[in-house]
Amino acid sequence: MDGDLDRDEWHVLSREEVLARLRASEHGLGREEAEARLRRDGPNELPREPPPGLPIVLLRQLRSPLIYVLVAAAIVSLGLGEMADAGFIFAVLALNAAIGGVQEWRAEQSTRALQQLLKVRATVVRDGETFDVDAEAVVAGDVVWLESGSRVPADLRLLWEHGLSVDESLLTGESVPVSKDPAYRGPPNAPIGDRANLLFAGSTVVRGRARGVVVGTGSRTAVGRLALDVSATDAGRPPLLVRLDRFTRAIAVSVLVAAAAVGLVGVLVQGQTVSEMFLFAVALAVSAIPEGLPVALTVALAVATRRMARRGVIVRRLAAVEGLGSCTLVATDKTGTLTCNALTVRAVHLADGTPLSVTGEGYAPGDGRLQHGYQPLAPGELPLADRLVRAAVLCNEAHLGRRDSEGWTWHGDPTDVALLSLGEKLGVSREAILERFPEIESVPFEPERRYAAAYHEVGGRPTVFVKGAPERVLSMCEWPSGSGALAASHAEVAAELAADGYRVLAVAEGDVAEPLGPGSLPAEPSSLTFLGFVGMIDPLRPEVKGAVAACRRAGVGVTMVTGDHPATALAIARELGLARAPEEVVSGGELEGATEDALGDAVRRARVFARVSPHQKLEVVRAAQQAGHFVAVTGDGVNDAPALREANIGVAMGRSGTDVAREAAELVLTDDNFATLVAGIEEGRVAYGNVRKVIYLLVSTGAAEIVLVLASLAAGLPLPLLAVQLLWLNLVTNGIQDVALAFEPKESDVLSRPPRPPREPVFDRLMLERTLVGAVVMGGVAFAAYGWMIGEGVAEGQARNLLLSLMVLFEIVHIGNCRSETQSLFRLSPFRSPTLLAGTVVAFSVHVAATYAPFLQEVLGTEPLSVEQWIVLGVLALSVAVAMELHKLSWALRHRPSRAAAHVAGRRHGTL
Ligand code: ADP
Ligand code: MG
Repeated sequence: MDGDLDRDEWHVLSREEVLARLRASEHGLGREEAEARLRRDGPNELPREPPPGLPIVLLRQLRSPLIYVLVAAAIVSLGLGEMADAGFIFAVLALNAAIGGVQEWRAEQSTRALQQLLKVRATVVRDGETFDVDAEAVVAGDVVWLESGSRVPADLRLLWEHGLSVDESLLTGESVPVSKDPAYRGPPNAPIGDRANLLFAGSTVVRGRARGVVVGTGSRTAVGRLALDVSATDAGRPPLLVRLDRFTRAIAVSVLVAAAAVGLVGVLVQGQTVSEMFLFAVALAVSAIPEGLPVALTVALAVATRRMARRGVIVRRLAAVEGLGSCTLVATDKTGTLTCNALTVRAVHLADGTPLSVTGEGYAPGDGRLQHGYQPLAPGELPLADRLVRAAVLCNEAHLGRRDSEGWTWHGDPTDVALLSLGEKLGVSREAILERFPEIESVPFEPERRYAAAYHEVGGRPTVFVKGAPERVLSMCEWPSGSGALAASHAEVAAELAADGYRVLAVAEGDVAEPLGPGSLPAEPSSLTFLGFVGMIDPLRPEVKGAVAACRRAGVGVTMVTGDHPATALAIARELGLARAPEEVVSGGELEGATEDALGDAVRRARVFARVSPHQKLEVVRAAQQAGHFVAVTGDGVNDAPALREANIGVAMGRSGTDVAREAAELVLTDDNFATLVAGIEEGRVAYGNVRKVIYLLVSTGAAEIVLVLASLAAGLPLPLLAVQLLWLNLVTNGIQDVALAFEPKESDVLSRPPRPPREPVFDRLMLERTLVGAVVMGGVAFAAYGWMIGEGVAEGQARNLLLSLMVLFEIVHIGNCRSETQSLFRLSPFRSPTLLAGTVVAFSVHVAATYAPFLQEVLGTEPLSVEQWIVLGVLALSVAVAMELHKLSWALRHRPSRAAAHVAGRRHGTL
């Protein structure tokens, strides 16, 4: 590319000069040329700051107050000449940091790898064909096609635009969308915001259509030169982590207070030395504070995002993972999400009343036919049919073509592709008739308009072709005087087709009376001649019915929100088991100007919202939230972005969705499928459950240690464990297991529980009771055993040796308890969770080895245990399993799931 033009002067040149400089044409580059340019110029991406490497993440682990206390303790030990203790503390420190750091780093790596799946796509024209490529593969000279919702992939010189309105706030800070003008020529020093013939990478198309030729990619774009980050992803910590940071800090403070009290009692009452008690208090604090929590949670969320990705849900914001567990209502699109978005015209109903049928499956016309009765229709046989098909093919934005080697290819709105396919079945191809009837002007389809129009020259006169929602198009038609009943009877035909589940479009044409003014959009067409209806089918996605039923069991309401006709929507809702009666359908017309109360009432009553505009979708979301719902909303268009942002969980479509919708959403479904969203809800619940398991394990084992120490001190016994022993216990029982718990597979009943109330604290009543029971049983039994040994005259060192192993066994058994809040330990095979099993086996082996290794024997005061001793300790350790089983049972009896579910469901949905 011409280096001197890299910077500033594209807007000065005429379109021809720009194309000449780029050695490009309006019809796009060749594929090979594009590849050559990509090799020459490099990918269209901005240099990014590399993510922090492992060493940085490791160092980050050391930046915690707890670590500072430990370092202080190690220094005190050094001062006291306790070299072994100090060395041991440093070793524990390093090990903890290493385990935590590596886990966190891996979690971040995998999360980042998943973000890569969310590449921006761009529609380019190459070798005369329109198709999508990764925005990174766009090169200078490429002709790019943009429509509402697209992100501009590179700096473009505008070639053509229609009703274009662009949001350039990223560059100019100006939030009001601006319009553009391909004919603009400006002075070299015109400010960026004035260069109306250029589109800049990183801006988004709010409305309209455009075609432009790429003048700069990657760092040769305006944003590239300003080094702005276009892909600004939300960096904030997920709310769950923020809440749990606070929780950890609160626990840390109370543990520190308890540890200090223990230290004081030791010194003042028992006459221990200050330095020894200081070390002990520090060790107690380190063991009891759940310092592994943040890392384990980061891992839990990373595991969840990975599992979700495997099932087709890409997480853009981690907050959505915990949010999914609370979701009580899903407001879902119909077309493409509940259905396959593979539309096929099945029925044509001409204006004179003639019904036609259409054969063939999918977009490829194959040997499908337009039939009158059972006879294939030939071109020219029914003039009205020819006119209808011509209008449907001319008023069309899609591409359908045959490429020799690969059969049929298509691009664009499925509704439009289906109409092109209909045309081919009657031998009408868009390319061919465009030559006979050149396009003058067009009004592209936008959901809030519900129609599209195209102006073509027919026999030297401008003619408009219109297709769209029946009520819109019929109201633009002119009827012979005195036949008002005719329009009504047509509307009835449309309603019948809709009730059969067809997506219905009306088609019309007409003369254009007023000349089309340049620049401005033509006024709404009028005085048209009605040609007929087309009815399309869109097969249901096979998995969706099961997913809707799963939602019902899970206490998650499902509401369909669609721009389609109420009757079509109801027919589909019925097939899915989503709605039965017409009262469950609320139309956009009814929502018009509704009061807040009326809206709330509609949300309670409706299973289907039909003929709603994107703006009304936003109102529905708000009303549902007002009614206490935690709402997930799907969307794909640029106008869905506000609803996606407003919802508790915005879900965008990975395939059919626009870039703008994707960027507004928390989640992206790679296959646009409702069933995938339900899988996401399931994984979200699993993740939240695993987070609770990790927290419970860490808090209850810490509490058990405190109970043991406090009870021993209160009973006037010597310290039950040495400082180093506490550190050791912490290392072998929590070091890997907490993280391993984050990998627990899903329990069978996750989707048969009611949703979790969004504001419910993580550490709820259940956790509190369980923590108390666990701590009292483990701490109490250990204390009793220790007291008994001391009473029997067992030497202190030996008693501690046994006590340490008892605590290790306790905590191993307790990990089994933590694996489910509801199910019995004995019903969960340890092999379900290989990570946890391996972690536990390794940790226990390390502990046994420590009782034999001379160095550790010396530091830890351990010695080997006999088989009989292991058995006795093992039996004692099982007491905590028994206690937990009893508590699970009693909790289940107190909170019968059916009653709880009915209670929650009744409060949240009214009916279910
Ligand atoms: P949804 O995506 O919820 O099915 P849309 O907003 O896409 O609904 O469509 C609403 C209505 O607009 C459809 O029922 C149909 O009548 C009409 N329509 C849809 N697509 C087109 C199109 N490409 N051109 C003209 N009219 C369309
Ligand atoms: Mg649509």
